[in-house]
Amino acid sequence: MVRPQDGRRHSSSAGLRLHWRALMAVPKRKTSKARRDKRRATHAIEAPRVNTCPQCGSPKRAHRICPTCGTYKGREVEPLRLQAP
Ligand SMILES: [Zn+2]
Repeated sequence: MVRPQDGRRHSSSAGLRLHWRALMAVPKRKTSKARRDKRRATHAIEAPRVNTCPQCGSPKRAHRICPTCGTYKGREVEPLRLQAP
């Protein structure tokens, strides 16, 4: 935007276009196919890693309570006995 105190007023649209400045960040170079494909090499979906529960031995995800027996690290946590602070 050109402010009035700049002393540069534009009456025609062609003059406005000459003084137009990019407000958006624009990449300097095209991303090469190799760089694009290297970035996308990590985008594949993989199956969740599964550990075995130490309490009941059924498969469970790491850092989550066991969906089968409701324990975490061998301690019973479900239903949660503590009041939320
Ligand atoms: Zn379990």
